[in-house]
Amino acid sequence: MTAQGLEMLDYLREVMIREHLQGRGIRDTAVLAAMREVPREEFVDERVAAKAYGDHPLPIAGGQTISQPYIVAYMTEALELKHNDRVLEIGTGSGYAAAVLSRIVTTVYSVERLDVLAQSARQRFERLGYTNIVIHEGDGTLGWPDHAPYDAIVVTAGAPRVPPPLLEQLATGGRLVIPVGSSCEVQSLIRVRRVAEHDYRREELCGVRFVPLIGAAGW
Ligand code: SAM
Repeated sequence: MTAQGLEMLDYLREVMIREHLQGRGIRDTAVLAAMREVPREEFVDERVAAKAYGDHPLPIAGGQTISQPYIVAYMTEALELKHNDRVLEIGTGSGYAAAVLSRIVTTVYSVERLDVLAQSARQRFERLGYTNIVIHEGDGTLGWPDHAPYDAIVVTAGAPRVPPPLLEQLATGGRLVIPVGSSCEVQSLIRVRRVAEHDYRREELCGVRFVPLIGAAGW
């Protein structure tokens, strides 16, 4: 990319922060700083790089999507992250949301069911120097028990219900943010807090549209 092209992307990134994020109520300074730091154009195909800072999803390999910037920021803010939190993401996709999370917490664990996406995200993290993200290829509806419990879990695909393994792998005091709905296409974004070992509190945040979460405890 030319120097002029890069300058334009820097400008568009600032517009994204000001208009799509701050303008729509994102206030967490750590989230805003992370969204400013991660170059979204690196997570999409070169042919659509110029559209990287529009507030919409974009296609990635495997018929999947990279979520719109506002939703990434909103879900990240909803996790109420602290620096030392252990975070699990289900649905690595392009790796963009994991990269944003990795600027806020020390380690991010991310699970992706499609090998092609897991591999390209790994290569991207290596190229960009994001060394604190660990990817596992598999069915994320089962979580990733090896590193549990997690202080925060975020699911970036729409589930028919909250997968029980994710509830089990949530630490007491932990937050789970997940799109849930009876249709594969429209969901409610839900936040579940584990307030005690057997006590979970659920709240509905907003309406969202995600590709389906496919797996043993998904679609
Ligand atoms: N977080 C991603 C990003 O920043 O690019 C966007 C994720 S995309 C909307 C949803 C992803 O969830 C897809 O990559 C899809 O393959 C993945 N997925 C669907 N079901 C899954 C499952 N059971 N386990 C892990 N990943 C799954």
